[in-house]
Amino acid sequence: MNILIIGAPGSGKGTLSQKLSKKYNLKHLSTGDIFRAEIAEGTPRGQVLKDAMERGLLAPSDILLEVMKDRLSKEEYADNVLLDGFGKTLDEAKELNSFYNIDKVIFLDVDFDTVLQRILKRRICPDCGYVTTVDESGETCEKCGSNLVSRIDDNEETFKKRYEVFQEQTMPIVKYFSDAKKLKKINANDTIENNFAKVCRIIEDSSKEIER
Ligand SMILES: [Zn+2]
Repeated sequence: MNILIIGAPGSGKGTLSQKLSKKYNLKHLSTGDIFRAEIAEGTPRGQVLKDAMERGLLAPSDILLEVMKDRLSKEEYADNVLLDGFGKTLDEAKELNSFYNIDKVIFLDVDFDTVLQRILKRRICPDCGYVTTVDESGETCEKCGSNLVSRIDDNEETFKKRYEVFQEQTMPIVKYFSDAKKLKKINANDTIENNFAKVCRIIEDSSKEIER
């Protein structure tokens, strides 16, 4: 079974993806991982991606799709893949759905206020890069003892923009997969543990459905 997971920044998508891939032995692929692999291989497309990343631009859609297509057509990614947040636009999502077999799309639905609170609690260590939250670590890095800081873009104003852009771009994708009867939405305003349990239930129900 191949799963695509989508969710707003701060929805817990990264953490849940890691937990899911571990529990169900899924190959977890994020766009970032795929880009890094392409860049590391030093291909011409890798160079274009590298330039875009360095300039803080979005990857050109055609290059992005070619890279994804190549990567996903490899035998090892035929099955048991968890795609983490791929497709920033409806066109990209449609294209992905045309060349790759996606069985389920899990949408982590979160309210703005919930994710804002999560984002504001995020902390990073400026010295060793350790990522944590103020609830877990207070203001001191448990790895090296430095004072933790917020990430520069983890403030209300910047986050509001990111969230709005996400909503605007993602709602058509959600509708598209819903019309295709592939979408499972969960209310992800909950703790990571509860959200994880909800997603596990979806995966277990879906794999029964597919076996039938
Ligand atoms: Zn540190």
